[in-house]
Amino acid sequence: MNAFLTVEDAAKRFSPGITFGDKVATWLGVQKPPRSVHAVDGVNLTIARGEVVGLVGESGCGKSTLGRMIAGIHVPTEGRILLDDAPVMSDGVRPRKITTRVQMVFQDPFASLDPRMRIVDTVSEGPIAHGLTTRANAADYTRRSLEAVGLDPDFATRYPHQFSGGQRQRIAIARALAMQPDLIVCDEPVASLDVSIQAQIINLLMKLRKELNLTLLFISHDLSVVRHLCDRVAIMYLGRIVEEGATDEVYATPQHPYTQALLDSVPKLEIDDDIDVVFKPIEGELPSPQNPPPGCHFHARCPVALEKCKSVRPALVTTGIGRRAACHLVPALETAC
Ligand code: SF4
Repeated sequence: MNAFLTVEDAAKRFSPGITFGDKVATWLGVQKPPRSVHAVDGVNLTIARGEVVGLVGESGCGKSTLGRMIAGIHVPTEGRILLDDAPVMSDGVRPRKITTRVQMVFQDPFASLDPRMRIVDTVSEGPIAHGLTTRANAADYTRRSLEAVGLDPDFATRYPHQFSGGQRQRIAIARALAMQPDLIVCDEPVASLDVSIQAQIINLLMKLRKELNLTLLFISHDLSVVRHLCDRVAIMYLGRIVEEGATDEVYATPQHPYTQALLDSVPKLEIDDDIDVVFKPIEGELPSPQNPPPGCHFHARCPVALEKCKSVRPALVTTGIGRRAACHLVPALETAC
């Protein structure tokens, strides 16, 4: 499959806000200069057209920052992101045609809609600005967008406070679809919804994907949702992708110790003589992205770490057909010359 989206060596560092007090304290030697945050650290990733790729990891691993770079909200500090070989960012600005082609759905449907705007204005604002509809046709355009996500088209004249969380998330998806995108970055779109509503939104995304041949980057910490929805999955740890592959294969035979630990941490029911809930939490805390450990970032929490893991960064190598992993214990696939 040809790459539709290509992420090449993308990195993002956020510089700390330095106050006058910090400068004086640093000058006096009372404190060290504040460090920048290494949110994303040399990520390579491709997504084919029509594919649904899951991006999974603990909170703070950089998955949302990577999603925002792909959506053209954050400018990469290093590397580049291409959509059909055209950069998503050019001189720190998102080219106009990329704005329509890549859309984002955010986690919090209460914060992502402007409470002062009617739904018709929220949904049609972007399409009018980009010439996809006219002000005269905005009402019809919005009604069609609401119908596409299973909402009553008459909702167009209402305000966000008149809707539940699940309905608001449908409106956020309608707003994204109204821009006629090729790629939607969904950043934890069901994390703040009730479980029954989560299933409705996941089913809606699956239906839209099929009907519109959408490409989705689905960011989540919920492994069961990703398994249900995604063709491929990439596991992130402290700014780096540590494993990637077809979802079924990664879940069935995880190669990286962090992937294994993530899967083990999901509670499972074991029914024997008794009913037990079995899970194994991951030991330790995610290290600070302000001061990432050298070598393999996971070494302090890895149950099978080697001495060299403390100093040598494992490369993300091909370990099988369509599979990659970054671990000194996982050999690269030998290819015939
Ligand atoms: Fe564990 Fe070493 Fe592999 Fe990192 S490189 S996951 S520390 S064995």
